[in-house]
Amino acid sequence: MIRKAFSAMSIDRRFGISVAAALLPVLLLCGRLVVHEWHAYMVADDALYAFQTYRAGLLAIESVSAERGPTNSVLGENLPIPEARRASLLRARGESDARIEKLLEMLQSSRCPGCATELARIENARAELTGARANVDQLIGLPLAQRRERALSSAVDRMIKVIPQFSPVIDALAANVVRGDTRALNCLILATLTADLREAAGQLGSHFTAALTARRALGEGDQLAIERTEGRIDQLRELIDSHIRDRSMLESAPFDRMNRQYFGEGMAYITDVRSLATRPGGVAISPAQLADHYVPMMRPITAFRDQVLDLADTEIRFHRSNALGLLAVSALAAFLLIMILLSMAMLFRRRVIRPLVDATHVIGAIANGDLTAEIPAARYRGEIKAMFNAIGVLKANSVERQQLERERGRLIQELKATAETDFLTHLLNRRAFESRARLSCAERNAAEPELALIMFDIDHFKKINDTYGHATGDHALQLVARLCRETCRQADVVARWGGEEFAVLSRVQDAAQALAVAERLRCRIRETRIPVSGGDGFNITASFGVAFASACDSRDVDRLFRRADRLLYQAKEAGRDRIFADPTSVASDNA
Ligand code: GH3
Ligand code: MG
Ligand code: MG
Repeated sequence: MIRKAFSAMSIDRRFGISVAAALLPVLLLCGRLVVHEWHAYMVADDALYAFQTYRAGLLAIESVSAERGPTNSVLGENLPIPEARRASLLRARGESDARIEKLLEMLQSSRCPGCATELARIENARAELTGARANVDQLIGLPLAQRRERALSSAVDRMIKVIPQFSPVIDALAANVVRGDTRALNCLILATLTADLREAAGQLGSHFTAALTARRALGEGDQLAIERTEGRIDQLRELIDSHIRDRSMLESAPFDRMNRQYFGEGMAYITDVRSLATRPGGVAISPAQLADHYVPMMRPITAFRDQVLDLADTEIRFHRSNALGLLAVSALAAFLLIMILLSMAMLFRRRVIRPLVDATHVIGAIANGDLTAEIPAARYRGEIKAMFNAIGVLKANSVERQQLERERGRLIQELKATAETDFLTHLLNRRAFESRARLSCAERNAAEPELALIMFDIDHFKKINDTYGHATGDHALQLVARLCRETCRQADVVARWGGEEFAVLSRVQDAAQALAVAERLRCRIRETRIPVSGGDGFNITASFGVAFASACDSRDVDRLFRRADRLLYQAKEAGRDRIFADPTSVASDNA
């Protein structure tokens, strides 16, 4: 059914539907490709945002860790706290607050849709940090002697305990980055390990705060905490080394500085302070002095972490640019492919399908005899032009044939007219008159008027020939023919019956009407002077027989002719120049 309907359509429409059917899967495939590349780009872009949030998280942890340095220093200072120490603490707190605020902002963004848990955790960590700071502030409001050791340890621990609140957030953000860009995994592990190292290094210094503030030897608990943290630092160092895949990183300045300054000088300094602080009475170093000496040695750790983060940032941005490039290339390729297919289809339609449709119309018109259709050969090239040229030849042949046929028709008409016409008088000849008479008879119905046949013969015509010559006789015949034409109606059939005999077939209302025509003719013939060159001319007369037919078949027509002829003969017999009519004769003799 569909196939039938399809084949009934015009070729142009079928071509349009076929092109649409072929383009649809191409469109779907191209669309699928572009959507896939768009999705890949969005994933890469999300990975970059997740990485930036992750980095903000690491920086926030670093600030909160770093805040412990000035905090410990202030806790070890007696009243009044030196202004420089207080200012340093406020600066550190300000920096922590700013970085936590930035992290919260990034977690709240619509680009981090699944970050509600992380947001809650950081809010919580901020609240805990505020509590820990309030605790510290309360302690440093007291003179040094009144600061209990337990209270000091607790204040330091509370500051340390804020950090683990950040860890799950950092892990979740790292997972988000890796989901979007798996190649960033190693850099993220390294960065996280380095951040942990920075935190452990900071904690190591904090373990001395209580003993140094109280100017006593390190207790068992302090020693245990220091050893645990040193063990953690060793472990982190090994992990960091094992995750460095890029040799250039091993030889980089930040890595070298971290090994030299922190693992070398920093750890040696801590070992020295620890051995001095183990002696009874402790060591005469304040927490602030420890921080002043120790904290700068931790900076290469964050510098190395920043190098790793920069590397990850470069890689993630590179992958995102690649994804954007692929998206642009696939969108452009899809667009070009569709445009090329469409242009090819349109070109094919214009160069082949449309001309074919035009050619069909032109050939159809020629076949139907319409030779006015224009042939657009000039618009095309190649085979299509040749096809239209051939159609042009066909059209020219048809035009020629049409003209020949018209000429032949005209000649046939002319021939027919000649065959029916008497050459001398140009009236119908006897054969044509007889066939018209039969036709008139056949077409006549009972309601119609009567059919009258008027036959007349010029009297003594032989004498005219003998007296004036044959040419004058011919002229006389032509004059009589003219009188007939002038006297009879348009609808009457007038013929030269033969020799000097004429016949008129007329439809009349009654016999009187026919007789009136015959009488008028007779009078005009009689009154017309036949000119003769070099003489006065002469007059002629004619004798008439008028017969009528009411019934009409072939035999009736023959009978009509015979009767008119007999009546004409009777008129001659009766003295000529008169009319004999059927059934009664009407004679007129004006001679
Ligand atoms: P009637 O009164 O009895 O009819 O006498 P008529 O002399 O007219 O009759 P007839 O039959 O004896 O002669 C007819 C003549 O008509 C004979 C012939 O030469 C002449 N005729 C016939 N056809 C033509 C023609 O085409 N041209 C000329 N000039 N004469 C013709
Ligand atoms: Mg005669
Ligand atoms: Mg005669």
